[in-house]
This record gives sequence, structure tokens and C-alpha cells, in this order.
Amino acid sequence: MATRNVLLTRILAVAACVTLLLMVAGEEKSQVAGREESSTSDVPTEMEREPAPAQESPDSVHVLVNKQNPLSPRDYAPDDLRTVDAPHEFADARLREEAAAAYEELHAAAAEEGIDLWATTAYRDGDFQKALYEQRRLEDGPEAADRVSARPGHSEHQTGLAVDVADLQDRECYLRPCFGDSEQGQWLADHSHESGFIIRYPEGVEEITGFAYEPWHLRYLGTETAQEVHASGLTLEEFWDVAPAPDYAEAYAPGEAEPSTTDYRAGLTLQVGESAQCTAGEIAVDRGPEVGHGALEEAAIARGGQA
Ligand SMILES: [Zn+2]
Repeated sequence: MATRNVLLTRILAVAACVTLLLMVAGEEKSQVAGREESSTSDVPTEMEREPAPAQESPDSVHVLVNKQNPLSPRDYAPDDLRTVDAPHEFADARLREEAAAAYEELHAAAAEEGIDLWATTAYRDGDFQKALYEQRRLEDGPEAADRVSARPGHSEHQTGLAVDVADLQDRECYLRPCFGDSEQGQWLADHSHESGFIIRYPEGVEEITGFAYEPWHLRYLGTETAQEVHASGLTLEEFWDVAPAPDYAEAYAPGEAEPSTTDYRAGLTLQVGESAQCTAGEIAVDRGPEVGHGALEEAAIARGGQA
């Protein structure tokens, strides 16, 4: 508890100097209904589908991570991470080599069509994910937290194969469901598979994927598989014919739940202009002229999904 209190105190202290965008809090609840009707003739037959991925290797670009399939080991960390060579919001926007190269290709393809994409969060280690999840759980309760924030060891961001993408000019829809209706969101839905990514948490399929709609969350699978998944119109769980993962297999053990106090925030500085340079442990939480600086956890919570 002591660690938690320290963390909370720090967040509250920083909040005073922040023009935090908490107006975002209300709209995500209404976004789970309404999966698009897809004709059953589009669904691939068993023969056409790929077999379920082997679960033993977290290093596979096909590793399946969801509420029923944690990473093994749970503190897995890839050894070929690098920062993407494309615009990114924070100093730390790392993906595994193959996924980073694919993201750069995706960004370039978008830019050619005048679409401005920014990578926000990419790799998150287990400690960071734990802190995010725990904070969300404290704020919103276990049930709400589990809809939008993954427990440590259960986040695709920990694989180094997932990246959240945003339009930094549109704060209203920054990591919000309405991003899916934006020019960027629509372009990603139509084109990300061409560079090997899928929209991992589509709308209306929370009972299968386990997470609310996240039109900004891209998962790298390689071009061939991503194109097949996209063409199928299926979730990754359905495509690989594995069990839906609406809930965790185990209850969360509160004993594991203390937020990390390690310096996972060190070095997180903003990349969008001089005035936005925050110190380690802070990030900017507004992108207008009135950029403020806030604790990372606080801003992440205000943003919505953290799957
Ligand atoms: Zn994400």
C-alpha cells in the first residue's frame, strides 16, 4: 500500500500544473455494439485458415496474446527492439526489428497519401503494464479496468509487435473510439494489412478479443497473415480458430499488484516541439500552445485504452 500511496501522491501533485484532458472520460462506454455485418461467404473455410500458432515461442511474430493466453514467461522481453524511424510522440517508441521496419513502410505509404500518422505507445515492458493496469484498477474498479487495460503478461505491447497510432492534431479522438472515424483511422483500417498489421480489437467483438474497440491499436503479423486476416473479416482468435478470450483464466492476485517504482518513465520526453519538453517521469498532456506536463500514469489513464 505504501508504494501505491507514494505513486498516487505524486500523481496528484503533478496534476495541479496540468491542463489535463479529462473531458474524454464519458464516450467510450457506448462503443461496443454494432459489429459490421459481414456476409458468411467471406469467411474462409477451415482449409483456408492458418492453424493456431504455436504457443511456446513468444519470439514468434505469430504469438497469440490475450486474456486466456499470457506471454510465457510473463516477464518476456524481446531482444531486438528499436525505436521506429518515423514520427513518434514519445522518445521511447520501440518495436521489434521486423515490426519497426514494417511500421516505417506503413507510415511512408500513409504519408504519400497525405495521411499524418504518429506512433504513440509501442513496446511496454511488464512493469510498465502492471503500473498502468493497477492504476486503472484503483481508479475505475476491476471490471472496468479489465475492459480497457491488460494485466501484465497479457498485453500485446509487451511482445514488441503492437503500436498505438494517433492523429496528434485531433485531441478529441486521441486513443478514443472516434479515432476509427477519422481520416487516419479509416486509412489504417483499409491499408494497415498491406504492411503486415491488423486492427487487433475491432468494434463489437469484445466477447472474443476481450478488449473494447481500439481502432488505434495495430498488431504486426507479417504481410501474408495480416492480409489473410483482413480479408477474412475475422478476429485473430477466430482466424486461428482458438477459444474466445472474454475473461482471464485466473483471478488477479492483488499480491502481485503493487505498482512498479522503477524508472520505467525515465527518458520519456515529448518529440513535438521545444515547449513540450518534459522532464523524466512526465509527459506532455496537451498539444496546443498550452502544453502541460503530467505524470505518465495520469495521462495514460485519461486516454482510454491500454490493452
Ligand atoms: Zn495498444
